[in-house]
Amino acid sequence: MAADLAGITGMNTPTGLLIGGQWTTGRAGLLPVLDPATEEPIAEVASATAEDAIEAVTAAHDALPGWAATPPRVRGECLRRAYELMIADTESLAKLMVLENGKALRDARAEVTYAAEFFRWFAEEAVRIDGMVTRSPSGTNRILVQHQPVGVSVLVTPWNFPAAMATRKIGPALAAGCTVVLKPAKETPLSALAVAAILAEAGVPDGVVNVLPTTSPGSVVGAMLADPRVRKLSFTGSTEVGRMLLHTAADTVTNCSMELGGNAPFLILHDADVDAAVEGAMIAKMRNGGEACTAANRFYVHEAVADEFSRKFAARLSALSVGPGLDDGTDLGPLVNADTRTKVATLVEEAAKDGSRVVTGGSAPDRRGYFYAPTVLDDVPPTAGILNEEIFGPVAPIVRFADTDQAIAMANSTEYGLVSYLYTADLRRALQVAEALEAGMIGINRGVVSDPAAPFGGVKQSGLGREGGHQGLLEFTETKYIAVDW
Ligand code: NAD
Repeated sequence: MAADLAGITGMNTPTGLLIGGQWTTGRAGLLPVLDPATEEPIAEVASATAEDAIEAVTAAHDALPGWAATPPRVRGECLRRAYELMIADTESLAKLMVLENGKALRDARAEVTYAAEFFRWFAEEAVRIDGMVTRSPSGTNRILVQHQPVGVSVLVTPWNFPAAMATRKIGPALAAGCTVVLKPAKETPLSALAVAAILAEAGVPDGVVNVLPTTSPGSVVGAMLADPRVRKLSFTGSTEVGRMLLHTAADTVTNCSMELGGNAPFLILHDADVDAAVEGAMIAKMRNGGEACTAANRFYVHEAVADEFSRKFAARLSALSVGPGLDDGTDLGPLVNADTRTKVATLVEEAAKDGSRVVTGGSAPDRRGYFYAPTVLDDVPPTAGILNEEIFGPVAPIVRFADTDQAIAMANSTEYGLVSYLYTADLRRALQVAEALEAGMIGINRGVVSDPAAPFGGVKQSGLGREGGHQGLLEFTETKYIAVDW
C-alpha cells in the first residue's frame, strides 16, 4: 500500500466485513480504497457478496430479540460511551476520513464532532420513546398506543459524509431497539468500519451492528431487501438510486426512509446584509468542498446587491487554499473521484456556453489528484442546465433577479426540495418566503441547518421521512395500537 494508514492516523482500522461480531473476509475478494489527493490506493477492504449479506441479516435477526428487550437506559448508555470514544478519537478518525474522502482536515474534524453528536443525541432519546393512553370517543374502551422497534434495518450510506451519515442512522436504530446491517459507499468504507469498532468497544453486543463494504451494492442490497426478515431500509444517496430502491422495497412492502439529492437555492433579497450573506454562502457552498446534499447549488441574488455579492464572494473563494486535505492550511481538498470532477468540469463548460460569466476559477489545476478550483459564475441565465443538476463541487452559479416572487418561482422550479437558504433584514418577509419555498428545511440568515436535534429531510424528490430530532427515532419504530377494555 502506498500509505501507512496506521502510522498516519495513529489507530488500527479494521478492513474486514463485520458479521455477528466477527471480522471476516468477504466472498467477493478485496475492494481497493483510493486517496483522492494522490489517486493511489491506501487500503484494501473485504468486499461482500449477496451470500455474505444474508449471513449478516441472520446475525442481525438473531440479535434482535435480545437488543429490543435491553432496557432503553442500557441501550442509551452504549451510545453515550460510543459518543465519548468517538470524541476521544477525533484526530485519528478525521485523518482516516481525509485519506479516503479527500476533504480538508478541518471539515473532517467538524464531521467527527457532528457524527458523534448523533450518538449523544440518540443516547438521550433512547429513554424518551413515549406512547399514549386515551379513552375511546364512545367511552367503551381505552386506546393504548406504543412504539416498538421496526426490526432488522438495512442502512445504505454515501461517501460524502462517511461517518455522520452512518451515525445518523445507527444512533436512532439502536436507540429504538433495532439491529442493523450497514452498507457504506465503496469509496469510503474505512470510516464506517472504524465507527463499528467503536460501537463494539462501547459494549454494543455482537450482531447488533453488521457492516458490509462491497463492490456490488445492487446485488448485496437487493438480496437483503428480498429477505422478509428485513423490515426497514434507511437510504442516503442520490435520487436516482433511491427511486430504484423504492421499487425494489415495494416487493416486500419494506418500510423506507430516503434522504436523497438536493438542489438548494440561496436567495439574497434587496435588503440583505451582503457581508453576512457572503459569510453564509461560504458555509452553504464550501462546507465539505461543495460535496453536500445541502450545498447551495443556485444563488438567486437581487440586482440591487448582486455586483457587491458577486465581487466579495469571488474574492473569498479565490483566496481559498486548494491542496491535499491533510496539509496544514488547506481549505479545499480534492473531489472524491475522477467521475465527480469530470461532471463538475462539464457543468461549468456548458454554463459558459449558455452565456454565464466565469468570475473566478473555472478549471481543474494541473496536478495529480481530483482537484477543481473554487468557481463563481455570474449572469447565469435562469434556463441554464447547471441550475437543474446537483453540482456536488465548489462551483457557485449566480442568477440575478428583480422581483421576490420571481425568485421564489425560480427557487421552486426543481424536482428537489431538501433545503433553501434566505438572506433578508426583514423577518416578516423571511417567514413569508420560507412558507412559500418548497423545501423540508429553510436557513434564514444562516448558511447551515444540520443539527442532530432537528428533523433533517426533504420534500418532493429529495426524500421521505426525517433523520435527527425525535422524528429520527420514530422512523425506526412501528406504532402498535392495543384496544383495551378494563
Ligand atoms: P449514490 O446514490 O451513488 O450511492 C449512495 C449509496 O447507494 C452508496 O452506498 C452506493 O454504494 C449505494 N448504491 C449505489 N447503487 C446502488 C444500487 N443499485 N442498489 C443499492 N445500493 C446502491 O450516491 P453517492 O454518490 O454516494 O452520494 C451522493 C448523493 O447522495 C447526492 O445525490 C447527495 O445529494 C446525496 N446525499 C443526500 C443526503 C441527504 O441527507 N438528503 C446526504 C448526503 C448525500
